[in-house]
Amino acid sequence: MDVMAHLLPIKELRAAFKDRLLEAVPLAPYTSARIGGSAEALIVVHNADELADTALHLWEIGIEFVILGGGSNVLVSDSGIQGLVLLNKARKVRFNETSEPPSVYAESGINFGALARQAAQKEFSGLEWAAGIPGTLGGAVFGNAGAHGGDMYGCLKVAEILHREKGKQTWSLDDLDFTYRSSALKNKAGQALVLSATLLLAREKPEIIEEKMKKNLKHRRKTQPPGASMGSMFKNPLGDYAGRLIDAAGLKGKQIGAAQISPLHGNFFINQGEASASDVKALIDLAQKTVADQFGVNLELEIELIGEWNS
Ligand SMILES: Cc1cc2nc3c(=O)[nH]c(=O)nc-3n(C[C@H](O)[C@H](O)[C@H](O)COP(=O)(O)OP(=O)(O)OC[C@H]3O[C@@H](n4cnc5c(N)ncnc54)[C@H](O)[C@@H]3O)c2cc1C
Repeated sequence: MDVMAHLLPIKELRAAFKDRLLEAVPLAPYTSARIGGSAEALIVVHNADELADTALHLWEIGIEFVILGGGSNVLVSDSGIQGLVLLNKARKVRFNETSEPPSVYAESGINFGALARQAAQKEFSGLEWAAGIPGTLGGAVFGNAGAHGGDMYGCLKVAEILHREKGKQTWSLDDLDFTYRSSALKNKAGQALVLSATLLLAREKPEIIEEKMKKNLKHRRKTQPPGASMGSMFKNPLGDYAGRLIDAAGLKGKQIGAAQISPLHGNFFINQGEASASDVKALIDLAQKTVADQFGVNLELEIELIGEWNS
């Protein structure tokens, strides 16, 4: 007997997706912070066509969903997602080695850091900045990921987008309207998703690519704390650093439950083992309030809270 209270039309979904529909799926293992409750239902997609077909079908029958890539920029609530999650494992890659300039087409579920390494192995430059960024290419387009002076804006040629009303489209940089850790997709969340992207590359001597990547990874290891986290919690306010403000507010090392503001980097919140989403949220609220009270700066979240939250 089905004892769970469903918000989704679960019978309709079971009939449509058969054993592809997984129910009551714990989401913590699908997040880099290892935090969060369960999704009422989850469907894994393995390639861009399957992603498009599944999303279109869901939109057609009026079902909203959350698309999850590497789960490295989200905090899932303790009560999880009373709805449907699409887990993106579309990972096909094709290098256009003879085009001028060379480029790489990749489906949106590929790990972005792994794609950067593949490009380097083929002696293509352009993605060295992305080495070590967890999460998928789709998540990186959605949030205009960036590091070490590079970002998605600087390397994307086009993205293949699935729009809920207009279907498959090719979006240029203008359409994506990238700003600091944001894009047109983020501003209209739920309206469109990334199926694939084509990134521009350049030919380069392997030792130069290798050296850049090593330098970036070394800097990352030196400045970013290890442990389960979501990366930078807040966006840097104009002309300052969220981590510096949190440090100056005396909050480095502050712990609530099993969540801690890293003693090494004030903008990294670490799950020390069994942290709940509400532990992390309490630290977020504390950091925002303390920094606003002391410095008059409103820290804006870089990560996204997903699932059911009281406030
Ligand atoms: C240790 C650590 C270091 C990090 N360092 C960096 C860094 O240097 N620079 C940086 O920019 N970020 C960094 N991050 C944050 C994170 O890795 C990036 O934001 C990454 O691009 C998120 O991708 P994801 O697949 O994990 O997205 P998710 O967390 O799965 O999703 C984030 C958002 O993107 C949406 N989304 C995901 N896939 C798609 C898609 N295909 N189409 C449309 N929407 C989609 C989701 O619905 C959600 O709203 C770091 C995180 C960690 C944990």
